[in-house]
Amino acid sequence: MGEGVLRSVMAKTVLVDPPTIAWEASGLVTAVVQHAGTDAVLMIGHMNAEALRRTLDGPHVWFWSRSRQELWEKGGTSGNFLEVVSVTADCDADALLVRAYPHGPTCHTGRNSCFHAPLTEPGYLAAEGSPPSTETIGPEVLNAVVAVIAERQRAMPDGSYTTYLFREGLDKIAKKVGEEAAEVLIGAKNVERGDADGASLLAGEIADLFYHALVLARAVDLPDDAIWQALAKRRGSADVPPRPPKQK
Ligand SMILES: [Zn+2]
Repeated sequence: MGEGVLRSVMAKTVLVDPPTIAWEASGLVTAVVQHAGTDAVLMIGHMNAEALRRTLDGPHVWFWSRSRQELWEKGGTSGNFLEVVSVTADCDADALLVRAYPHGPTCHTGRNSCFHAPLTEPGYLAAEGSPPSTETIGPEVLNAVVAVIAERQRAMPDGSYTTYLFREGLDKIAKKVGEEAAEVLIGAKNVERGDADGASLLAGEIADLFYHALVLARAVDLPDDAIWQALAKRRGSADVPPRPPKQK
């Protein structure tokens, strides 16, 4: 799935000399893996020098399995590889940040991230007066929706609206995307006019538009990560129109 594209963004220049890593006495260093497109934290693992060398060589992330006492190519058995984009050491070089594009779910439970067992409510420990941030759940929610859509397409369960859309086909889905886009426009005008519940209605319309656009992407077999990659490329240049208007 999009391997060529992913590989082309892989860091080719190794800036950190592996011997400068502050290895633990066991010869390992902890590596945090972060989604290169969404910034979601996916998992942690441990690398010895050989696992780090293989990871820096690319294209996949390697670890040292402490339980099995062996080198472990993440995805080697499941196919859910992590395609390495960059490796960065922290300030005292005793932990590594690996940015990567995951092929499929990273966690063996089938979830996108190993970190899916909250010990607190969202915002539980946030400083008083600062509203709990929902920013970080954004991309994970989209990933979860993408996963559900893919599962519906695979299993086509009766009674599911997504199944209904796939049965109707691309023309129907495309029509729905157009309708939802129009409802977003109307919703925005209602907010502008000062409607009391306009903002929450607009949020719902935008969510509907996202959902139908994701179904459409699935219907034409767009790779799961293609949209995230396209968005990630635009980050930092968000003030600039993605494509210059055509000159007449
Ligand atoms: Zn896991």
